[in-house]
Amino acid sequence: MPDAATQTPILAPFPAPTPAPPPSRLVDPHGREITYLRLSVTDRCDFRCVYCMDPDQRFAQRDQTLTSAELLAVTRVFVGLGVRKVRLTGGEPLVRPDLIELLHALRALPGLEELVLTTNGSQLAARAHDLRAAGVRRINISLDSLRPERFRALTRNGNLGQVLTGIDTALAAGFERIKLNTLILGERNGDEILDLVRFALAKGINLSFIEEMPLGEIDRRATDFYSSERIRALISPHFPLVPTTETTGGPARYYRIPGSPTRIGFISPHSHNFCADCNRVRVTAEGQLLLCLGQEDALDLRALLRRHPGADEPLRAAIIAAMRMKPAGHRFEIGVPAVVGRRMNLTGG
Ligand code: SAM
Ligand code: SF4
Repeated sequence: MPDAATQTPILAPFPAPTPAPPPSRLVDPHGREITYLRLSVTDRCDFRCVYCMDPDQRFAQRDQTLTSAELLAVTRVFVGLGVRKVRLTGGEPLVRPDLIELLHALRALPGLEELVLTTNGSQLAARAHDLRAAGVRRINISLDSLRPERFRALTRNGNLGQVLTGIDTALAAGFERIKLNTLILGERNGDEILDLVRFALAKGINLSFIEEMPLGEIDRRATDFYSSERIRALISPHFPLVPTTETTGGPARYYRIPGSPTRIGFISPHSHNFCADCNRVRVTAEGQLLLCLGQEDALDLRALLRRHPGADEPLRAAIIAAMRMKPAGHRFEIGVPAVVGRRMNLTGG
């Protein structure tokens, strides 16, 4: 009789189970692959836009927001999981003092193909060339009015001249693409739609109109809803809009104006739900992983980062597991109070 050491193990006829290969892609339960991360690098801002913040907005304590090393670690893990595009946003990313150093570090991540940024433009005059040199290829600049007084009222303290100089500096800095983002807030700026199109045409840059989303309890929401269709109908008699299938990998639907490089986009969370093609997640300045702009589901990455400093694996495992929670879509409804208490400055617009 063989002794115990030489006995054939019970499972010998079966091959030893091989561990499942670790996923190198993030796919949610609805079959959507996540390749795009929107990273909020600060919740702070030099503006207080009426649809985004309160006049006396309070911000997170500095030790509650992610450090540059933590932002880099989170991004490294996402890029290792197949994310190819990262957009820095906020709050206003340019108020972060170490932004340029952070960009240089992010740009060096192998596998990251696109590093882009959204800004209110207030500091572009001084920083556009640095951003370009740090590897930012495309920028979005928010602009809701071309009238100085109105601009100041909508942003509560913004200086339009400074932003326009910033746009010109960005043009000179040679970004591959510049896009203006405009929120039409009913009667407050609906009369500027054509002026904004003319401005984009004159500069040879793109322009997207965004429908306002009910994020946070804000009592100054537009009362007169301008759907994308209404804006398009207003533009069409003056500038023919030819639909194009071109995409920047986001939710906008684009139109060309013949004879011009300018494309007009519409981001229509209400009138044209884009959730079926969602390829993105967000990380807030406080390190919350948000699986959907319009839902509350979140995972606290900051806690993991601080519990396991320097270790990517716990973060990686948690992010993979979190994808199972990604909802099918948002639940915004016109005229219905916010289902999401979080403001856009925290969400990372
Ligand atoms: N501060 C930068 C800026 O303004 O471009 C980046 C962050 S901001 C939150 C990003 C974008 O979110 C802006 O274009 C802004 O117009 C948009 N936004 C803010 N609140 C919004 C809301 N309630 N609905 C739709 N878009 C909103
Ligand atoms: Fe600041 Fe952008 Fe929010 Fe305006 S929309 S308050 S610029 S973060």
